[in-house]
Amino acid sequence: MDCLFCKIIAGEIPSTKVYEDDNMFAFKDINPQAPVHILVIPKEHICCVDAINESNSAVVAKIFEKIPMIAKEAGITNGYRVISNCGDDACQSVKHLHFHILGGAQLSEKMA
Ligand code: 5GP
Ligand code: ZN
Repeated sequence: MDCLFCKIIAGEIPSTKVYEDDNMFAFKDINPQAPVHILVIPKEHICCVDAINESNSAVVAKIFEKIPMIAKEAGITNGYRVISNCGDDACQSVKHLHFHILGGAQLSEKMA
C-alpha cells in the first residue's frame, strides 16, 4: 500500500519517534504548528476518523490512553490540543488516521 505513514511505521521513511508499542507509533510532525507537535498513528492502516468502527476502535481507545503520557514526556505542562482532520473539507493530507498533539504554547482560540 502506498501510504506515507505506513512507510514511516515500517522505517522505510525516517521520522523522529517519540513513542511506539504494538498498537501505535508517535513521532514529531515534520512541519510543526506549535512548539510541540506530535502525530500519533495506529499501526493498523485506518484511513481516517470516518473509517473507525466496532472492529477497529480498540486501537483508538489505546491511543487516547497513551496521549497524556506522550504529551507529558514531550514536556507539555499547561494543556494541549488533540486534532484529527478527516476528509477534504478538513484538509486531511495523509490518508492514514492520525491524531495531532499540539502544545507547548498558548494556542489560538480558533479551531477552524
Ligand atoms: P493532516 O493535514 O493530514 O491532518 O496532517 C498530516 C501531517 O503530517 C501534517 O501536519 C504534515 O506536516 C505531516 N507530515 C507529512 N509528511 C510527513 C513526513 O514525511 N514526516 C513527518 N514527520 N510528518 C509529515
Ligand atoms: Zn497507512
